[in-house]
This record gives sequence, structure tokens and C-alpha cells, in this order.
Amino acid sequence: IQRRTYLAALSPLLRGEVLVLLRDVTDARRAEATRRDFVANASHELRTPIAAIRAAAETLLSGAVEDPAAGRAFVEIVARHAERLSRLTQDLLDLSRIESRQWTFELAPVGVGALARQVLELFASAARAKGLALRAEVPAGAVVRADGRALEQVLVNLVDNAVKYTAAGSVTVSAARDGDAWVVSVADTGPGIERHHLPRLFERFYRVDSGRSRDQGGTGLGLAIVKHLVQGMGGEVGVESGAGGTRLWARLPAA
Ligand code: ADP
Repeated sequence: IQRRTYLAALSPLLRGEVLVLLRDVTDARRAEATRRDFVANASHELRTPIAAIRAAAETLLSGAVEDPAAGRAFVEIVARHAERLSRLTQDLLDLSRIESRQWTFELAPVGVGALARQVLELFASAARAKGLALRAEVPAGAVVRADGRALEQVLVNLVDNAVKYTAAGSVTVSAARDGDAWVVSVADTGPGIERHHLPRLFERFYRVDSGRSRDQGGTGLGLAIVKHLVQGMGGEVGVESGAGGTRLWARLPAA
């Protein structure tokens, strides 16, 4: 029952001398359902690599370890899924720290240009391997009020996605002044995202193509972390996408 229905039913009482306390449980129920979904999703995500590691270890123990070629293949499976578990637990920890407000934001002026170049450098070899050009187009005066570590994490997650999902062309980090804020964007020339996915893109574990994301080592948490970090710094996030590619942006107060 919606809040309005309660109020309509109780309005004759409200005119009397009775104090009526109303507590809307809709939001609380929704929050509880979201939490339950999150725990179910997280358990599912954790179970997959654990099952793969267990199966590979059992195969090794039951003889594959004696055969160098097969042994190596199974050890590689163990290593790949252990890496996945490590990324997943790190992302889950980050998200839980931000959401429970244990992540303290130390806001100070941060130069976007230097940070963008530093982050792009981390992806130089991955981009070179795919023939992707990486560019920073940031005016010298682009300075935002942010937590340097959080903004770096935001750019890492956005550039990581752009490089992961773009087969050819370029990835560009740019900044444009908008009133009393800067809009920092990461744009790519990838396949674009269909319109109906866009409103849910920043949700935890929401993926456009689950198989593709997992193959690329994605946890499904990158953009949820981006959203929480940017909101924690008093900013907002958004996405635009079309046939020419995708642009994800964070709007942060100018310093
Ligand atoms: P993941 O770890 O799966 O990349 P994210 O939360 O970072 O999770 O992103 C959610 C989903 O959004 C991805 O699975 C992918 O389908 C889509 N996505 C994110 N960034 C891009 C991009 N630059 N181009 C195309 N699709 C993207």
C-alpha cells in the first residue's frame, strides 16, 4: 500500500486530538530486498571461481600432476581463478567500505591532467597490444575538489572498461568546465551500449554481456564503485552511448 493510501484512510483521525505516527516501511523493505539480492549475487560470483579451483585441484591430485602439459594447464586454471577471487574480494571490500562510510574522503584540490596521464600510463601496454590510442585532453586549469586516491580509482575503473570493451580506435580522458564544476569524461570508440541498459549500468553486478565481462576479468562492480566514490565526493556520474562509442563522466566541484 502506498503512503498516500494510508494518509487518505487516516485523514479523519488526523483532525482529532490523536497523534498518529506513520512509518513507511516500503523503503525499508526495498533496502532489505536489495541487500538480499546483493548477498545472493556476491555468493554466486564467489562460488564460480571456488568451484573451478576445486575441480582443477582434484584433477591434479588424481593424476594430472604427473603429466607436465596437463599439469601446467590445470595450474593455470587455478592461478586465473585465484586472481579473479582476489579482484572480486577487493571490489567487495571497497564497496562495503564506501557504503558503510568507513572510507574517509579527504577533499583537496586535485589536478585532473596529471592524474589522467598517470592512469593512462597504467594501461599503455594493454592498449598497445590491441592497437588502441590513449589520449588525455585536459586543460591545464582543470582542478577539482576531490580525494586524490578516490579519483584515481574512478579513472582506473573507467579507463579499464574503455580499454576492455573497445576493439579498435581510441580511449580519451577529457575535462570540460561546466559552471562551478568540471566534467571529467572517459570516451571510447567501442561498440556502444544499447539504450535500455543505460539506467541500470551503475548497479552492482549489472552487466550488459555477462560472458564477455567475465572473460575480460570483470567483476560487475567497477561502475558501482565509481558511482559511490563520485557521490561520496559530492559529485555525480552519467553515461552516454551510441553507435560511435561510449562516454562515461563524473561531474565534480571545481577547486
Ligand atoms: P565489469 O567488471 O563487468 O566491467 P562494470 O561495473 O565496470 O563491470 O561495468 C558494468 C557493465 O557495463 C560491463 O559488464 C559492460 O557490459 C558495460 N560497460 C562498462 N563500460 C563500458 C564501455 N566503456 N563500453 C561498453 N560497455 C561497457
